[in-house]
Amino acid sequence: MIIVMGNEITDAQIGTVVKKIEAAGLKANISRGIERTVIGAIGDERKLEAEMFTSLPGVESAMHIAKQYKIVSRESHKQNTIVDIGGVPLGGNQIQIIAGPCSVETQEQMDLAAQFTHEAGCRLMRGGAFKPRTSPYAFQGRGAEGLAMFRKAAAKFKLPIVTELMDARQLDAFMEYDVDAIQIGTRNMQNFDLLKAVGKVNKPVILKRGMSATISEWLMSAEYIAAGGNHNIIFCERGIRTFETAYRNVLDVTAIAVLKKETHLPVIVDPSHAGGKAWMVPALSHAAIAAGADGLLVEMHPSPCDAWCDADQALTPAELKKLMGTAGAIAQAIGRTL
Ligand code: PEP
Ligand code: MN
Repeated sequence: MIIVMGNEITDAQIGTVVKKIEAAGLKANISRGIERTVIGAIGDERKLEAEMFTSLPGVESAMHIAKQYKIVSRESHKQNTIVDIGGVPLGGNQIQIIAGPCSVETQEQMDLAAQFTHEAGCRLMRGGAFKPRTSPYAFQGRGAEGLAMFRKAAAKFKLPIVTELMDARQLDAFMEYDVDAIQIGTRNMQNFDLLKAVGKVNKPVILKRGMSATISEWLMSAEYIAAGGNHNIIFCERGIRTFETAYRNVLDVTAIAVLKKETHLPVIVDPSHAGGKAWMVPALSHAAIAAGADGLLVEMHPSPCDAWCDADQALTPAELKKLMGTAGAIAQAIGRTL
């Protein structure tokens, strides 16, 4: 960290800054200039916060020079990390498409969804049993019995399952039904207690970007999970909120490139919650793969117009099949497989 002090400072003021640095176990390096005095804090600066210094007399500004996230950063791990989801590798040369309905509705709906997911050539399946709905009066998900339906349907086609965890108290049910990857939704990206809880379990975590979160906040949230011991984390860009109202969210394609540079962990994209309309999903999927995404999380329903949740954005089984073909061609153009 660098602490910048003004030109009319006293030795006592410098001394106070130095003492604070040393109390945190770091060393201070003082560089006196004509107009400014700059103090460098040398050591593990993650223990320091800018506010510890900016409130002191004589201090103009304080800034970190090292990244606040460590385990998830590419600086600490140069190679791409491949996360294993129930035997399916995510983050390697092969792109994975995770498909399935927004929510688990009935056994019959899940049986059909699993069959169509498998027939389209997808190796992973999604489906929400615990649903984060804007209205408390809307369908809230089938809960634990939904997990049972999901597990049963997916088992027939040996599809590993991805589903959202909203509360740490649901973890026992997730373990009972052996959920293969835990999804943390956009609304919980900064639910730090939930992040700490999944940091302690031995299951891959798909961390969606908060709808108004910066990339740095997103990386710090992943660091919360990693700091607990669970390094099997996948980032999922799902669109952010802006002034635009023509679509549900704005897919931040730039974030894919930035994250691939900043972290060694896999990055996937959810084109369904980004666009909010099924007809946008192919275009956004193609853009995501072209920009370097390692996978997609796509909503598909056996009969979209009958879906209990997010009907507008669900692909039909035939549309998913078609997307696998066109997305595969893009993957091939950039030297990857699907
Ligand atoms: C979902 O994937 O079903 C979902 C609710 O997504 P998000 O958290 O991105 O809104
Ligand atoms: Mn949905």
